[in-house]
Order: sequence, then C-alpha cells, then structure tokens
Amino acid sequence: MQNLSSLIQDAAKKLLEEKKVDLVIGFEQGSLPLRSTPYFARTPEEAGNLIWNSTCENNLANYLRKRSDKVAVVAKGCDVRSIVALIKENQINKDNLYIIGIPCSGMIDQNKVNAAVEEKDIVEAIDNGEQIVIKGAGYEKTVAKADVIHDFCAGCKYGNPVIYDELIGEKVPEKSGDDYADIVEFEAKPAAERQAYLAAEMSKCIRCYACRNACPMCYCTECFVDCSTPEWISKSIDTGDNLIFHAVRALHTAGRCVDCGACVRACPMGVDISKLTRKLAKDVKQLFNYEAGVNLEDKPALSTFTPDDPETFLVKE
Ligand code: SF4
Ligand code: SF4
Ligand code: SF4
Repeated sequence: MQNLSSLIQDAAKKLLEEKKVDLVIGFEQGSLPLRSTPYFARTPEEAGNLIWNSTCENNLANYLRKRSDKVAVVAKGCDVRSIVALIKENQINKDNLYIIGIPCSGMIDQNKVNAAVEEKDIVEAIDNGEQIVIKGAGYEKTVAKADVIHDFCAGCKYGNPVIYDELIGEKVPEKSGDDYADIVEFEAKPAAERQAYLAAEMSKCIRCYACRNACPMCYCTECFVDCSTPEWISKSIDTGDNLIFHAVRALHTAGRCVDCGACVRACPMGVDISKLTRKLAKDVKQLFNYEAGVNLEDKPALSTFTPDDPETFLVKE
C-alpha cells in the first residue's frame, strides 16, 4: 500500500509539473486511524500528501461532473464505472479527464472493524496488506482484512478499472459474476416479511440525504424531495415518506447505479438501502442484459429499445 501511495504521488507530481492537469483528486490520510478523506492536490508539493489504502472508500466520480478545468482522478474500479456512466450522460468531458486507475480488491467496512474491536476506541491501526493490526487503550487486535471487507466489495467483479489513462498497481484477479444471491434470497421471502424488513430499515432513516449526496449518479439540480410545489413528501421524518424517498431514488438510478456502495457507506444510521438499489441492478441485468458503466459503447438500458420489446406501449397500431 505504501508503495502504491508513492507511485500515485509520483504520477500526480509529474502531471502537475508538466501542467497536463490543473488538479489531481485522490485521498489523503484522515485525522483518525483507518480513515482517509478526499484530497485535491493543485501543486507538485501537495501531490506528496496523496495516499492509497483500503480505507479510500469514497466514490471520487462525485467531484468530476461539469468541470471546465483539466483534472486527474485516482480511481478504483467502481469510481471508473461511475465515470463511464457519467461520460455517457454528458456529465463528464473525457477530453478534460485523466484517469489514474487503481486495481482494487476491496475497501474495509468501518462498522465491521468497530464490531471486531467491540466498539472500543481505535488509537492506531497498521495495515499489513492481508491483516490490520488495531491498537487502543489496553488492547491490540489483529484482524484479517478479508473478514472486514465491505459486503459490496466481496461480490465486486469490476475491481480492475474498465478504462484508464495510466494504471498503477497490479491487476486483481477477476471474480465471477455477481449472482445477486442476497436479492434472490430476499425476493423469495413472503411479501409481509419483505414489507416488515423494509419498514424496519426505513424507520431508522433520519433523511439526512448523505446517501444521495455520496452517490455520483444522484445529480438532479433539484431533487424531488426538496420541491415545495408540489411537495412530494413531507419535510418531517416518517417511515412511509422515507420509503418513498428511497424507492424513487432507486428508480431514478435504475440502469445507472454502478453498485459501488457509496450510499450505504455514507449512511450514519446503518440503513440497508442495498435491497432497493441492488434489486433494480439485478432486474436491469436480467431484463436488458445491461450493467452500468462497464464499457463506453453500450447504450444505457433505459435510453434505448428494441422493436420486439414486449411492452405494448412501444407498438404502433
Ligand atoms: S465495489 Fe469493487 S472497485 Fe469499488 S471499492 Fe469495492 S472492490 Fe473496490
Ligand atoms: S438512508 Fe441513511 S444516509 Fe440516507 S437519508 Fe436515511 S439516514 Fe441519511
Ligand atoms: S445508488 Fe449507491 S450503489 Fe448505486 S451508484 Fe449510487 S452510491 Fe453507488
């Protein structure tokens, strides 16, 4: 990981020195152990602050829409999928973007780490590649990274960026396809059980909109939840309105969601939003054989149709 950080710093420094870009967007060390934070390096000196490790979880495509400056971005597999999807939606001008692609084997789930140390304060953490040594007041614990990897990452088959201008690090082994086993299992439950599960999850939501703000594909100038005429949902927190927010958001990202998990990771309340987002991703894959952001050529699933589409509204009598 240290080596990757150095290589990223060197690449960023060179791009800035040669004035190929105005800015390199990556990560810097956070103020707490096992935390990193998005970082904007504008000078070769600032490039020295860039890091890479398994806490670089934010989806940096979020910072790339509608920019007029020349930008380089340090991008893992799911960031690049978002970039591809946003290029197709004319939100990113690829001519102004330089992608420093990083093969990714997964980011750690802070909740799993906290559970592993029984919610004790973490004072220091040493990332040894396969293991993380965590230290706090009066304790030291070594956890296998595989045990604390985020659920989204465990099933990810696009850890290797699908496009890049420069690749840093060795490609990770290809994984077999996502079989959406979690969604298949959920779909098999009785309707009442699914309804109760979603109601329980929605009751935790405080409608802070961190999930929406962390999502690179949620970029409407005015989100429907912020409209006042008409007021689609109440401003107060209500389980039913919470579900409307999440269901509509999932529908708005249908065929566009890249399954990065940024929305889930951003949630301070641990709401399981993935049952909705991944359900839509599964249906789009099954119905249209389409996955968002995996190549620049395919037309977005919901922007096209075939003449033999079984939906009658497409048939001219
Ligand atoms: S979803 Fe894939 S690319 Fe994204 S952080 Fe997880 S493993 Fe890496
Ligand atoms: S699901 Fe989580 S992040 Fe999203 S609005 Fe609710 S509390 Fe906030
Ligand atoms: S809805 Fe969530 S998983 Fe899908 S692209 Fe947005 S942040 Fe990523």
